[in-house]
Amino acid sequence: MLQNIHLSISLWDNIVKLFKDYVWFSVSQITIVDVIDIVLLSSLIYIVYKFIRDRHAGRAVIGLGLLVLLYVISDVFDMVAINSILRNFYAVGIIALCILFQPELRDVLEEFGATTSDNIKRIRSRHVTDDERILHDVNEICKAAFDLSGKGEGALIVIERQGTLRNQMSEGTPIDAVVSHQLLCNIFVNKSPLHDGAVIIRDGRIVCASSKSKTIAENGPMVEGLGTRHRAALKISEVSDAIVVVVSEETGTISVANNKLLKRHYEKESVHKSGDLKDDLFKLITGRTVAESTSGKSSGVGDKKPNGTEKDENGGADKE
Ligand code: ATP
Ligand code: MG
Repeated sequence: MLQNIHLSISLWDNIVKLFKDYVWFSVSQITIVDVIDIVLLSSLIYIVYKFIRDRHAGRAVIGLGLLVLLYVISDVFDMVAINSILRNFYAVGIIALCILFQPELRDVLEEFGATTSDNIKRIRSRHVTDDERILHDVNEICKAAFDLSGKGEGALIVIERQGTLRNQMSEGTPIDAVVSHQLLCNIFVNKSPLHDGAVIIRDGRIVCASSKSKTIAENGPMVEGLGTRHRAALKISEVSDAIVVVVSEETGTISVANNKLLKRHYEKESVHKSGDLKDDLFKLITGRTVAESTSGKSSGVGDKKPNGTEKDENGGADKE
């Protein structure tokens, strides 16, 4: 009995000693730099995780992770054949990775560049800074949205900004056309071969129709009671900086998805209720109001009246 007690005490002493020597010693060595290091690494892992989760390449990354695991296992258990094959694979793996993730890497670098350098942004979007053309496009989009809403037709119009949606949306049917309300109405009129899915507008051109978002937003307060069209719009605004105009086939409601938000109930006449569709779209695209732009207040805006619309600056397409 006494021997047992003695044994447990010495065991306990050993545990305490072990804790002191290893755990406490290690914890006491942690400096503020280590904490910053850990926080930075965690953030990096989270960013990589989010990047992978939101993109199509996620499955490829899982496959790659499995290969790494296999390599570690083969190394631990000394499996010579598989280990040497995998080692050779990793030698060229970095190049293979660059090729595999080329679109994603380009997206990330573009986004990074866009946020860190205004100049690069301007070079990439030199056409997008053309306020006259943007005002014309916005007018056409508004006109189409209100026409379609009045006729009970649904629509999904995606306006790309700095980022590209090549990885988030299917290619659809290629079109290369000037933005016009007639064409948009023709595309979305029910039973038209292209009415299903979204139109994508890139650099002032309608580049395709019938394009489908690869993912749609899950249940949440923003899309409660709404179907796949609105969820696709919200998702696109979550994974990119695009602006999405949605016309509900069921209710005629016009909404705009931008930056994870779905603003609803734009109306043709009422400016007070929910904001003006033309003003909101123009401001989201250019960062300026229509009034600022047409009065030439802000930089880079000409003194000319916008062409492509016969209306004055207050008489947008939605007020005809
Ligand atoms: P509505 O108010 O117009 O009925 P909703 O939000 O209720 O829209 P649904 O009724 O499910 O959505 O609309 C179906 C239509 O939405 C499809 O016919 C298709 O045109 C479009 N749509 C559905 N999923 C996608 C997607 N992933 N990408 C683009 N468009 C989609
Ligand atoms: Mg529906």
